[in-house]
Amino acid sequence: MATPGGPRSGNFPPNYNPNSLANNMQNLQINQPNQQQPNNAGGSAPRPPPNATPFGQQAPAFAGNRPGPPPPGVFPRAPVPPNAPAQTTLPPNMVSSRPAGPPPGSQPPTFSSRPPPPGAMPSSIGRPVSPTPPASGPRPGSYPSSPLTSAPSTPSHASASGPVSNGPPTFAPGMTQSGSSFPPAMGGMPRPLVGPPQPQAMLSSRPSSQPLQMRPSFGGPPTALSSASGQPTPPFSGLPRNMVPPMGSSPFSAPNTGMHQSINSPYGMQTWPAQPQQVTPPPPIPGPMQQPPRMFGMPPGGQSLPNQSMALNQTGQSKIDPNQIPRLSQSGSVIVHETRQGNQANPPPPATSDYIVKDTGNCSPRYLRCTINQVPLTVDLLSTSGMQLSLLVQPLALAHPSEEPIHVVDFGESGPVRCSRCKGYINPFVKFIDQGRRFICNLCGFTDETPRDYHCNLGPDGRRRDADERPELCRGTVEFIASKEYMVRDPMPAVFFFLIDVSMNAAQTGATAAACSAIKQVIADLPKGPRTMVGIATFDSTIHFYNLKRASQQPLMLIVPDVQDVYTPLESDVIVQFSECCEHLEMLLDNIPTMFESNRIADSALGAAVKAAFLAMKSTGGKLLVFQSVLPSAGIGSLSAREAEGRSNMSAGEKEAHKLLQPADKTLKTMAIELAEYQVCVDLFITSQMYVDIASLSVIPTTTGGQIYYYYPFSARSDPAKLYNDLRWNVTRPQGFEAVMRVRCSQGIEVQEYSGNFCKRIPTDVDLPAIDCDKTIMVSLKHDDKLQEGSECAFQCALLYTTVYGQRRIRVSTLSLPCTNMLSNLFRSADLDTQFACITKQAAIEIPSAPLAQVRDQATNVCINILYSYRKFCATVSSAGQLILPEALKMLPLYTLALLKSTGLRPDGRIDDRSVWINYVSALPTPLVIPLVYPRMIALHDLNEKEVDDSIIPVPIPLSSEHIAIDGIYLLENGVDCLIYLGDNVQPNILQQIFGISSLEDIPNQFILQQYENPLSKKLNDIVNEIRRQRCSYLRLRLCKKGDPSGMTFFSYLVEDKMASGFSYVEYLIHIHRQIQSKMA
Ligand SMILES: [Zn+2]
Repeated sequence: MATPGGPRSGNFPPNYNPNSLANNMQNLQINQPNQQQPNNAGGSAPRPPPNATPFGQQAPAFAGNRPGPPPPGVFPRAPVPPNAPAQTTLPPNMVSSRPAGPPPGSQPPTFSSRPPPPGAMPSSIGRPVSPTPPASGPRPGSYPSSPLTSAPSTPSHASASGPVSNGPPTFAPGMTQSGSSFPPAMGGMPRPLVGPPQPQAMLSSRPSSQPLQMRPSFGGPPTALSSASGQPTPPFSGLPRNMVPPMGSSPFSAPNTGMHQSINSPYGMQTWPAQPQQVTPPPPIPGPMQQPPRMFGMPPGGQSLPNQSMALNQTGQSKIDPNQIPRLSQSGSVIVHETRQGNQANPPPPATSDYIVKDTGNCSPRYLRCTINQVPLTVDLLSTSGMQLSLLVQPLALAHPSEEPIHVVDFGESGPVRCSRCKGYINPFVKFIDQGRRFICNLCGFTDETPRDYHCNLGPDGRRRDADERPELCRGTVEFIASKEYMVRDPMPAVFFFLIDVSMNAAQTGATAAACSAIKQVIADLPKGPRTMVGIATFDSTIHFYNLKRASQQPLMLIVPDVQDVYTPLESDVIVQFSECCEHLEMLLDNIPTMFESNRIADSALGAAVKAAFLAMKSTGGKLLVFQSVLPSAGIGSLSAREAEGRSNMSAGEKEAHKLLQPADKTLKTMAIELAEYQVCVDLFITSQMYVDIASLSVIPTTTGGQIYYYYPFSARSDPAKLYNDLRWNVTRPQGFEAVMRVRCSQGIEVQEYSGNFCKRIPTDVDLPAIDCDKTIMVSLKHDDKLQEGSECAFQCALLYTTVYGQRRIRVSTLSLPCTNMLSNLFRSADLDTQFACITKQAAIEIPSAPLAQVRDQATNVCINILYSYRKFCATVSSAGQLILPEALKMLPLYTLALLKSTGLRPDGRIDDRSVWINYVSALPTPLVIPLVYPRMIALHDLNEKEVDDSIIPVPIPLSSEHIAIDGIYLLENGVDCLIYLGDNVQPNILQQIFGISSLEDIPNQFILQQYENPLSKKLNDIVNEIRRQRCSYLRLRLCKKGDPSGMTFFSYLVEDKMASGFSYVEYLIHIHRQIQSKMA
């Protein structure tokens, strides 16, 4: 088969050689690291040049990863604020009508340092120390054997030992800094125009404390979007964002919204005509409740929240026009989002939308999103709402290429300024008092002395005069150079160890060859430099290491036969500098498939192999990339085909079925914890054609900050391309090693729990042997006190990590949100995408520990409880016959229904598929959660007839079989899989043009997209490449047709249809409505 890879030049037309797999992959822009510098002018094309080096994310604005003159973005800590020439901060290449996909160039170069255990974070040095014991002192309970904790660091030691020597030079305090690129004071920046000109009010989200008018760009009436796009204003209020306006009169009544805008707005105030079946509307303000409704923010009489109601009579759906129920559609406009305006937090645009962030004090929503953009004062208010208070944290998220790079700040040896009580980091919301000599921590309220060399007078507005020149005082996200105290050892090198299954099955199915081929192509993309180390081993029932140093023609194999009590031979030559062994490694990778092609050993000692590799990596830590094809059957951690001897499906009727989703025993978990302790992150690439007990295996990646890649059933023809691209993205994406993360909250709120792929040894911190731009952590919050009315509540995420180039960094993101005692404000500022992502992640957590029916009910109950609360306390214009949906959450029922029909929650399906789904959801970024359960579907057959416009991807259509024409071709993608469905009566000429076949009979089982010389084929290839880029995923392509299993798979994604796994959309709305009514009664 064609080998992907080879020279990648940037200007190939997409898939220019239709017969080459490689070219499809070359156009997967996401995998091509960016060399482009963030501020590179003239970059009208945000896409990175294909040949960029991996980790090309070094932006000039960041402190150098490499020795050399200080990059402009580095801010030395100087007593006198640098007089940086005012510069515009917005990169010239801002204009983009489309999201530019994972912008590799926008990240700081680094990624990756291992953060000292949070506990190991030093207390402030050289500053008065509060008598209160530092919350983050030496980490209690840390493992003595951990490399991070074995060398206790003390301030005195640190300060005595001088500047840190690892990595590029850092700049000492007082060093002059020329050409600082830091932008002028906020507010003075020119607003970039993005996409079609739009009224500013529409584009930028506004402070949430204002009435609804402030949310025009999301949730609210789509004024901005529709006007921007030149479409007629929809005649009703409360369209869901992106929703297609219904034709004719709207079934959505929009009770008085109380918005300024609504008064003259064409969208407001239409009410749904009362249905004969309706009963008398309940009083506007609900009756008895524990607290008077007003307390929850009922707007004064006559006002209500923007919402959407629909008449649902008791007998059925005949009254409902399916075209008029809330649905998602896409808007092509890019939103420019300023994180704060007028000293108030701006609610972020939906996570799934295209937006460009200007960090004006709060961090970008890409790094930190809250389920509600106003924080309830009390736990009672929160529980009344039915909503949850959680954060989704994605600390290394990819930014839009047009966004300003994160500033790197160097405080020199003393490290960043922190609160001496809570250890919170300096941020734009600390309040300086006493002419700047002291500051009040916005997290714990403690008043601290300002370090002497950090002192600055206050201006007439009470702000420090240098606030706008110091990123840490005016930006929501900054990256601090970690001082010596943040290191208990030298930052670790970038170690990549490849472990390949060569047992009989793996060799025969082509999985071994595919893995070797992928690795061989990817190694060229590993970070360059002396700090990059590699190692490789293969295994069947024994483990085979290879001496990569030995300059022999044939690599020397070193066999470890004992898979019960594992050891590692020749430790020093098993992992070597990449630059020393590159040729040997390539030769070895060429040879391995041949060496094992006739292997007759069926057993696979995965657990032992991981352990042996771990022993080799123990002294450094690093990434362990494992390619596994069968159920591990030998040595430590071996597993059995426990799900009833190969039966791979389970039904909801089986009470104990969920136990098959739990690990078989604790062996692998124990091993995983040890791996994490030594900073080894494991990614599993499962190239299997059988059950491999993912539930047991997944604890390894889940605990070590890794993930599972699943190729089932593995196809040697169509899967190698995806394997290669997945591996390439894995090693080239922005990432960091030996990380520790902690989230701090303002007084009154505390972290209840973290969820995601990490290891937790103490309650307050998560240990991440590795973290990358795709990993997201859910942080559940709880009240421990009542918040202050009129105050703001801040959340601060600090990630200490080592970059792939060996720099230790602390990325600090701070989000400060207003507090409220009004229930209506909570609904108004609810963040649907974040809430739904949290609901989905919680379901994934619960699936292995509870009967499926219970998890499904729970998901529906969450939806009902939220809508019930809104109905009871906030909706004033209503009748019993109406289902009333808060504007911001109107898509919640549809998404919840889709969740019930997802791989994770539907009552049928393979156990391994469900385990993979659980693992995938666990660390999934917020913007990818909704597409996972509610995929995007577009029509392909009429691409030639559509108007050419800016967007490559056509407008999605609802996931209902009503929209499937018999002569149509449809593409459906959820970020993982991409299905192309061919209707029975597709025109043969279209089949020929797109797929090169003349009839449905010729559809191949294993499909590889090719590009033919016609516009239709080109458009399809463009679309697929764009989707891959947007999703940072190669996606598995499959052709589907009616009447065979592939067709069933396709239709199982049409979640608005009635199917075995659940109601139709309309039925589900009625179900929800009835449940709410019965609660009201
Ligand atoms: Zn504090």
